[in-house]
Amino acid sequence: MTLAAMSLDLPVPKLSIKSLTLEDLAAHFAAQGDPAYRAKQVADWLYQKRVDSFAAMTDLPAATRSRLAEEFSFVGPEIVRVLGSEDTTRKFLFRLGDGSLIESVLIPASPALYGQTSDRRTACVSTQVGCAYGCKFCASGLDGFSRNLDASEIVSQLLAIEAASGEEIDNIVFMGMGEPLANLTNLLRAIRIINAPWGLEIGARHITISTSGLAPQIRKLASEPTQFRLAISLHGATDEVRSRIMPVNRKHNLTTLLGACDEYVAQKKRLMFEYILIAGVNDSDEQAHQLAQHALRLSAKTNLIPYNTVEGLEWSRPSRNRQESFLQILRDHGAVATLRREKGHDINAACGQLRLQTKRAENPVAAEQ
Ligand code: SAH
Ligand code: SF4
Repeated sequence: MTLAAMSLDLPVPKLSIKSLTLEDLAAHFAAQGDPAYRAKQVADWLYQKRVDSFAAMTDLPAATRSRLAEEFSFVGPEIVRVLGSEDTTRKFLFRLGDGSLIESVLIPASPALYGQTSDRRTACVSTQVGCAYGCKFCASGLDGFSRNLDASEIVSQLLAIEAASGEEIDNIVFMGMGEPLANLTNLLRAIRIINAPWGLEIGARHITISTSGLAPQIRKLASEPTQFRLAISLHGATDEVRSRIMPVNRKHNLTTLLGACDEYVAQKKRLMFEYILIAGVNDSDEQAHQLAQHALRLSAKTNLIPYNTVEGLEWSRPSRNRQESFLQILRDHGAVATLRREKGHDINAACGQLRLQTKRAENPVAAEQ
């Protein structure tokens, strides 16, 4: 049998329609000899009217609708669990088409987010199923890495949260499960759809990508024209401390990482540091002095985040006094820094934990492995 014949036996997974940009849709219709305005019609149905089938796109000819249905899939994520209530942080657990579980968080307008009180509704979105980077303190990495999300699975988290909550999201942080820069192509495609006037129309300055420090990808982003925001998860100000909790530091150490950040900042782009405070691990005065030097070098604002405990992990947050002293040292150096002070780290806890609980409940043996 030839390779071509063999491949005929395999069902080819359909591309999801929500992975396409307007240009892709236009190219699709042009190839079919259809009028160019069809692309915008479809985008309107997907992102303005938000229908959930091709059949509902009533201004397209019936033949076009059935052809689209043959070529593209439309499946959205299924919401498995929602935690939290209307005026608090809500967590959404989704099951994807292949059964994988991911989670997103909706943070309402009032609580302090990353230091400042926010009047925005923020969605914290996942980019991968699991995470390969295995930071020692993080629930997302505990179960290893399964796969990248495609662009539609990233965008659909936002559509599903808006549909379920009735709230309009106006701020996005890629701080859910996964390492966004390890899925850069799909991430940038999703951001184009989220940012576009024909898509979700969320301004680039309201989109934050968080990375554990993939230096080569940070260098790539330096030349990316879209002005989204970049957060570096530092969590250790020396190689010794950082390598202890973040294995990625053995691949891209601080010198390499900060060098990539220099290149990023040299392109007149700003970045910020995230620094979780973990008792007895990275919260010493010495770390604070070193961190201040890195922050000043890059003119980076630092967000200090008291650690959220993860079931099964031994790490904990330092006392309130220690948190405040750490902040004060940064400020004494002239570095701009904030400390997240809100309570309620029960559901507020970082992404990855709800998924882990559910997997353990559904399949206690496999989830422990
Ligand atoms: N992989 C990316 C983005 C997802 S994690 C990254 O690491 O940046 C988003 C942020 O949540 C990171 O700063 C991460 O270090 C932090 N985080 C992970 N587990 C946490 C926990 N238990 N408490 C507080 N922050 C946590
Ligand atoms: Fe992955 Fe980020 Fe968690 Fe590290 S902190 S394991 S990079 S999701």
